[in-house]
Amino acid sequence: MKKINIILLLLLLPFILFAKEVKPVKNVIVMIPDGTSIGVYSASRWFKYYSNMGDRLNIDPYLSGTVTTFSSHAPIGDSAPTGSAYATGIPQQTGNVSIYPEVSNQDIFPVDGSRTWQPAATILEGIKIQKQKAVGMVVTCEFPHATPADFSSHHYNRSNYKALASQIAYQNLDVMFGGGNSILTDDIRQYFNQNGTTLFSNDREGLLNFEGDGKVWALFGEKSMSYEIDRDPTKYPSLAEMTEKALQILSKKENGFFLMVEGSHVDWAAHANDAATMIHEFLAFDEAVGRVMDFAEKDGNTAVIILSDHGNSGFSIGSYNCSGSSELSLEQLFGTVSKFKKSTSELESILSNAKPEEIKSLFKKYTDVDISDEELQWLLSSKNYKERDYTQVGTSNNLAHYIAKILNSRTCFGFTTGSHTGEEVLLASYHPEGDILKGNVTNREVNEYLQKVAGLEMSLLDMTDNIFAKHQQVFEGMTFSIDKKQPDFPVLHVKKGKNRLEIKAFSSIAKLNGKEFELGSVVVYIDKNDTFYLPVQLRDKL
Ligand SMILES: [Zn+2]
Repeated sequence: MKKINIILLLLLLPFILFAKEVKPVKNVIVMIPDGTSIGVYSASRWFKYYSNMGDRLNIDPYLSGTVTTFSSHAPIGDSAPTGSAYATGIPQQTGNVSIYPEVSNQDIFPVDGSRTWQPAATILEGIKIQKQKAVGMVVTCEFPHATPADFSSHHYNRSNYKALASQIAYQNLDVMFGGGNSILTDDIRQYFNQNGTTLFSNDREGLLNFEGDGKVWALFGEKSMSYEIDRDPTKYPSLAEMTEKALQILSKKENGFFLMVEGSHVDWAAHANDAATMIHEFLAFDEAVGRVMDFAEKDGNTAVIILSDHGNSGFSIGSYNCSGSSELSLEQLFGTVSKFKKSTSELESILSNAKPEEIKSLFKKYTDVDISDEELQWLLSSKNYKERDYTQVGTSNNLAHYIAKILNSRTCFGFTTGSHTGEEVLLASYHPEGDILKGNVTNREVNEYLQKVAGLEMSLLDMTDNIFAKHQQVFEGMTFSIDKKQPDFPVLHVKKGKNRLEIKAFSSIAKLNGKEFELGSVVVYIDKNDTFYLPVQLRDKL
């Protein structure tokens, strides 16, 4: 009897020892509905039911917990540091893109000041470099916007699009679909020719008919893509269409892949307190979830996590406008919003190009709302919306703001702010063998899980020290100087004996004695400490 027990124990030992381990899989997919509070899931589900589109969301069967998401110095996150924490495991400050933050007097957790400004290796970089897998991103914002930048570039300032866009291009992504044609530079286009990237600009058919397996970028619009509610489906693909195409291309890769999909605009619509647009954006994201889950369930070697990066707007079903909330019917709650056919920003551009006498009828046409003379005066006296103001729509006096104010006065939806909020966000997780992420987890734990499920042999921290070492240390004892003739893209020159090394900031290409070679990772220059961060192995080149 005793002997049998020992044998049983020996047989079970591996399972007992590794019970908490996560089995690595071939493909890893992260999906982020940006700035999506829990009320948006509820409203979208009810909206779907009201519209006879079914009563479940595609994400529903996979919901597994919540995520506490924060910046290094503030409980309410900004997309740059919160996405960066998922990508790197390092909480950071507002504006930071996958970089070690400064120490501040309000840090929530200890910050390592010896690493301030050092780029932090991301899960995308880890999977690409360590596992030699394909990598891709699909978004609806412009490609260097916070979330895609978080996974594929590094800087302390999320607005530095020159530095971020260049790094994203030089990451050698296998797939990049989203907005931002105007952000491509001649240098980036030239690099695409060099590394064999096919570029589709405003070419939905070209992208959807693409059957190759090379690197592909497809960009739509000058900057961001349009909101789903305003989208012309003959010209622009949906998030689900782009996601499906990305899966088709990436799944041909022998080693597997990493894919990040962002429903970028739930956040923007929440900033604008635009309920209809938020719901349509989330449903478009959920359609992409459906395509991803169909793929993952069939594939059997793909793990998926789906999570927002922070809450936004304090959105609620029920508001001070509507008393007796528990007596309100489905029609009262969702009938009005179902008649809103344009986003507030699209309505703004329609109304600002119209004559004053046309405004009432145009408003009625697109929303079924009759506006009063007083409301008409609000619209006529407000300023025009500018795209860069999207985070201020909820709190400014522009036209889109007044449109939202009028629409919200006709619904029973509530908003408490036009900014981000600090409640936890929903988590969904799928793993072919059930090793899912569940319960309430922090943003850092999300990254730990990603490293495990991707099967990284080297931690992202160790990798960070390998690919982002300070140039002063790497080239210690050699002669070096920084050429700042092009202030946005400084060049590091290193001399040793007869050898000359040239390294351009925010690229992955260096020159040894005039001959170009690929570094395999991006080089980051930080002006605050006048330092290039680059691979340690570069020392051996000289
Ligand atoms: Zn965000």
